[in-house]
Amino acid sequence: MATQRMLQFVTKARQMPEKRDAADRRTDFGEIYREYASEKAAEQASRCSQCGVPYCQTHCPLHNNIPDWLMLTAAGRLEEAYEMSQATNTFPEICGRICPQDRLCEGNCVIEQSGHGTVTIGAVEKYITDTAWEKGWVKPIKPAQERVETVGIIGAGPGGLAAADRLRRAGVQVTVYDRYDRAGGLMTYGIPGFKLEKPVVMKRVEQLEAGGVQFVLNCTVGEDISFAAIRGQHDAVLIATGVYKSRDLEGAGVDLPGIERALDYLTASNRKSFGDDVPEYDSGALNAAGKRVVVIGGGDTAMDCVRTAIRQGAESVKCLYRRDRENMPGSQREVQNAEEEGVEFVWQAAPAGFVGDVAVTGVQVQRMRLGPPDATGRRAPEVIEGADYIEEADLVIKALGFEPEALPKLWDEPELSVTRWGTIRAEYGTHATKLPGVYAVGDIVRGASLVVWAIRDGREAADAMLEYLAQPVAVAAQ
Ligand code: FAD
Ligand code: SF4
Ligand code: SF4
Repeated sequence: MATQRMLQFVTKARQMPEKRDAADRRTDFGEIYREYASEKAAEQASRCSQCGVPYCQTHCPLHNNIPDWLMLTAAGRLEEAYEMSQATNTFPEICGRICPQDRLCEGNCVIEQSGHGTVTIGAVEKYITDTAWEKGWVKPIKPAQERVETVGIIGAGPGGLAAADRLRRAGVQVTVYDRYDRAGGLMTYGIPGFKLEKPVVMKRVEQLEAGGVQFVLNCTVGEDISFAAIRGQHDAVLIATGVYKSRDLEGAGVDLPGIERALDYLTASNRKSFGDDVPEYDSGALNAAGKRVVVIGGGDTAMDCVRTAIRQGAESVKCLYRRDRENMPGSQREVQNAEEEGVEFVWQAAPAGFVGDVAVTGVQVQRMRLGPPDATGRRAPEVIEGADYIEEADLVIKALGFEPEALPKLWDEPELSVTRWGTIRAEYGTHATKLPGVYAVGDIVRGASLVVWAIRDGREAADAMLEYLAQPVAVAAQ
């Protein structure tokens, strides 16, 4: 391969694809980065120094072969780059768009540590697979041989879909059940279009359907069909249901109309982008247009809410977070995007209650300061007495994180073992639960996590399930 084309980081500066102007971004739900032109993708890929021990690869949850597909991109050999990239990642164009690269692959790129900007790994990964779609290199799955075994997958998020893809490639009959009317999980209804445009996800769902994966949508396991029935219908089952129970607030006025949960708000907005009829949006309940919006929380979900409110035409958007900027869990890149788009951050501020008669009109805000480090070493926020004030608001969005639903109870399966946090207990590497033939992956095992980790889990679980399905069935003693 043409190594002489590489190591260009000394002369070529890091350049992300062009970012749309903030004023333009505020008007729609389109992605904020444009695509690289082919020369630019090749140039940026050529900055890689082809490390003997590539830390980018080590810190990618899928251990993508990053240096090799960068080298192929730099050499203009895009179809080979695509083949290599898709060999380890089921949805490379999705990860390229929404992985927090600054904490994963790019955050560990050695040329950054030597004072040059990191290789734009995510943007190149997206470019490779977007090009593959355009050129028709992404094909429906055609298993070499059909098998008789069937697997039922509960949950059509990235964990479930990554497993479905891998099992179907091996010829297994796969049925995916989901309570929503569209597949994709949080990629479809949680993450807003300005980070991940919906046709990108739907194309993958269609590819799986065309390859023979069956989808049973609008089907809540535990209500429309029992978990026991799913186990009875399939040789093995994968639980990939994610975490959906919103953490809540306490205090006066918490039940006032106008105080909404982040996921309800984001789902309504995403449904509207699909062109669905969304009565809660049309009534104004889940629509920020013309409102003073306060979002409570400092994680990535809060960032998605504030930026959605801006696009819906809110009068003002403020984000309250009890720690400071340096100690927030959300990505700094997203905070910067939000600030550019007009969001105001109120650091070291927490809600003590809500005011309003028939609906919320304000948040009673306590000012906080960072106290001494707690047992975990993190400085705990403490209240500054007498510094409370009212932050006026017509719409308050609670973005405080998610917890697992109580599946053993909801599914009437007490043998399904859970941790003390309520997440399902599954074996490291195989993702097998204590129930024979039942596996679990993604957020329902890890707690709220990332798409790329769900993909990794789904791929690993599929491999373990294939081994399980290959075992001869034990014949009961006469
Ligand atoms: P999910 O994607 O949650 O999918 C689970 C599916 O199971 C859903 O479709 C659900 O309808 C279905 N289901 C649940 N219960 C049942 C049942 N009883 N019967 C039938 N179906 C059921 N990660 C990133 O990497 N980058 C980001 O930028 C990012 N942004 C995010 C923004 C928001 C607002 C949120 C909430 C999360 C974000 N994440 C992001 C996290 C990421 O979306 C999740 O980690 C990932 O989707 C988890 O995948 P999963 O397959 O485990 O579950
Ligand atoms: Fe980086 Fe995510 Fe792609 Fe891995 S999957 S190379 S972490 S963007
Ligand atoms: Fe290339 Fe950076 Fe990975 Fe090294 S760490 S191989 S320079 S992308």
